[in-house]
Amino acid sequence: MNVHALIAALEAALGTKAVVTDSKAMGAYLDEMRGLYRGVSPAVVKPANTKEVSEIVKLCANAKAPLVVQGGNTGLVGGAVPDGAIVLSLERMNRIEAVDAINLTMTVEAGCILANVQAAAEDAGVYFPLSLGAEGSCQIGGNLSTNAGGIHVLRYGNARDLVLGLEVVLADGRVWNGLRALRKDNTGYDLKSLFLGAEGTLGIITRAVLRLYPQPKAKCVALAGCGSATDALALFQTVRSRAAEVLSACEYLNGFALDLAQKHVEAAKSPLEGRHEAYVLLEFTSADMDADLNARMEAVLAEALESTQIEDAVIAQSGPQADAIWALREAVPEAQRQEGGSIKHDVSVPVSKVAEFLGLGAELVEKRIPGVRLCAFGHIGDGNIHFNLTQPEGADKQAFLDLWQDTNRAVHDLVLSMNGSFSAEHGVGRLKRKEMARLKNPVELDLMRTLKQALDPQNILNPGKVLPPGEGSQE
Ligand SMILES: Cc1cc2nc3c(=O)[nH]c(=O)nc-3n(C[C@H](O)[C@H](O)[C@H](O)COP(=O)(O)OP(=O)(O)OC[C@H]3O[C@@H](n4cnc5c(N)ncnc54)[C@H](O)[C@@H]3O)c2cc1C
Repeated sequence: MNVHALIAALEAALGTKAVVTDSKAMGAYLDEMRGLYRGVSPAVVKPANTKEVSEIVKLCANAKAPLVVQGGNTGLVGGAVPDGAIVLSLERMNRIEAVDAINLTMTVEAGCILANVQAAAEDAGVYFPLSLGAEGSCQIGGNLSTNAGGIHVLRYGNARDLVLGLEVVLADGRVWNGLRALRKDNTGYDLKSLFLGAEGTLGIITRAVLRLYPQPKAKCVALAGCGSATDALALFQTVRSRAAEVLSACEYLNGFALDLAQKHVEAAKSPLEGRHEAYVLLEFTSADMDADLNARMEAVLAEALESTQIEDAVIAQSGPQADAIWALREAVPEAQRQEGGSIKHDVSVPVSKVAEFLGLGAELVEKRIPGVRLCAFGHIGDGNIHFNLTQPEGADKQAFLDLWQDTNRAVHDLVLSMNGSFSAEHGVGRLKRKEMARLKNPVELDLMRTLKQALDPQNILNPGKVLPPGEGSQE
């Protein structure tokens, strides 16, 4: 079947309104968040339900035509960018189907925007903890497919830990209904795990049963200034040992990241008087509305001050003050964009090695690119640092960006030498495929190819993503 016949068949199955071929209307589906790629696709299809997703996949499988599933298209590794494939957008599948406040579960369609999932939980007096900068536009299906992390992993885990059941359309169009809302179910292999973090290469997630939590009723946010990354890590240890059960976020920013946020984003103002080499944002929450979190925060910070882990700290005294501290952290990616070219790394190392990594990494990149400015921030409590490099002042942006791949390689080699990961929370997509080939254990790659071959033997689901080309990969 040629592509015109396939599009006609898709229109006949879904109706013409659900099949977009106009290049202007397709624009947003072909753009990519960081501007690293521009997608190419003959059509965007927008199914209304699982049955239609299944029909689309059957038609594409028949025609051996590749498909790229797209959620909110906020991914940072080019995973949702089509390279000639049909785009399957789940944006119309956005119903919250049920909230069970006793079982603490929510059943949703995969196209629900994350912020709407959070709001639906709040309306029902419960809590869905996944939270990240793109939550106003990313979809829960995308979150599960990338095993997204975000700011609350420390307490609640990654997206993988927040799902109990899935419904998935397989590469031959069959529907696997694994929508179980059970916390215990040892009946064979955990099939849902295969699709979580698979970035759309093994199946299309159409519905999910999410795990909810009691709603936090008390909250306290603080910002501490530290003399070094080593002190910031020591502060995290102190806080964890004194208040692990209420600690819901622990975010790190180096001095330059906070400088940039204040320079470029009007709403970003540090509540601390002086400048510090490193900052730690702490958030405590509790389901007990009478919990005196401010007193606990004060006690922990006093101990840290006494042991010189911190130089100064501010505890937010109101909701708006807490929001203002979070705004500082959230301003960093935008501020970095405004400062010029950035070379990015989303890496993790064991928590115990974060400070050592930051020190060795800084030395390494300064040696390779004299004058480069390190904008490091992220989820220190998870060992996950966004180790981003801002071009040296006055440098040519393109000449700097041309160093992206070589710099990535050097930083990833350092990360691997410390038993870390070259992709902590953003996935592999198209961007890190070569690093998969270079750095991933061959046995793991073999197992991954075996799974791909078993579940998608025609290689129609998101080809050219995650797995590197190689023996048996059909590329
Ligand atoms: C400002 C900003 C902040 C961010 N912060 C974080 C952060 O803190 N932590 C973090 O982990 N990420 C973060 N991200 C990255 C991104 O938001 C996440 O990866 C998010 O989970 C992607 O969701 P999406 O719906 O946009 O997916 P998309 O970008 O549309 O797709 C991502 C991948 O999942 C696949 N996919 C999408 N939906 C499905 C489905 N239903 N079934 C099967 N496959 C599917 C796609 O094919 C693609 O490979 C951030 C991004 C931005 C722009």
